[in-house]
Amino acid sequence: MIFDAHMHVGDFGPMFNVSLDRDGLAALIDEHGYEGCCVFHPDNELVRTVIESIPEAYGLVWGNPRLPGYVEEVERLLDHPKFLGLKLHPLIDGYHPNDPAVHPLMELLLERGGLPVLLHSGHPIFTLPWSIEELAVAYPGVKVIMGHMGHGNVVYINASIDIAARRPNVYLETSGMPMHTKIKEAVDRIGVERVLYGSDAPFHHPAVEILRVQVAGLRPEELQRVLSGNSRALFLGQKGVSDEEVASARAVR
Ligand SMILES: [Zn+2]
Repeated sequence: MIFDAHMHVGDFGPMFNVSLDRDGLAALIDEHGYEGCCVFHPDNELVRTVIESIPEAYGLVWGNPRLPGYVEEVERLLDHPKFLGLKLHPLIDGYHPNDPAVHPLMELLLERGGLPVLLHSGHPIFTLPWSIEELAVAYPGVKVIMGHMGHGNVVYINASIDIAARRPNVYLETSGMPMHTKIKEAVDRIGVERVLYGSDAPFHHPAVEILRVQVAGLRPEELQRVLSGNSRALFLGQKGVSDEEVASARAVR
């Protein structure tokens, strides 16, 4: 079984020319045998309707410190049983990851027992790995996931692995990172527990993203941890979703 830590729903306009609606997401979940996935979009209400209608789909709340009322919105949605943590995209929303405006959101994650936050990584100026590290250092009790583990630039990929090696609260998520060898390198250097599979669908195809993890040279038990077990523990375990609830969610479909 597979748990995808990084998926989007919505329409991403002429620049990307991709979209994924509720039915498209449900089809991907079936096609790839997902037992669970984390979905997000700047419109949290859109995500709420999707995750309430697809048993395997869970949400991360999109927090945008540029918007009025953002703390209250995140707080309200974290009370929802299927929102499992926070998503931040400092690059497109335009702020530094460790901006003081982000700190109230980190406090909310801590109050709820240490829920995770996933940040886009890999592009200057706001999502360089070292900027995300500043947030991880400021909040050692928050589990900070570097989405794309540095993305397409080997300097940033290596930096994300270095940072995870020295910061035990940093996790690496594999989507869109082109080098299968770096997945194995990350597991060997930081341990298998903090490397998570993600697809970044619809920007990338799950079949391609799964295959990159499968050919990375991991041992079978490591592969299962990266493709599923680590996200189960991190997202579902932290929020208190039981194995029985996951199993019955699949039975509903
Ligand atoms: Zn993404």
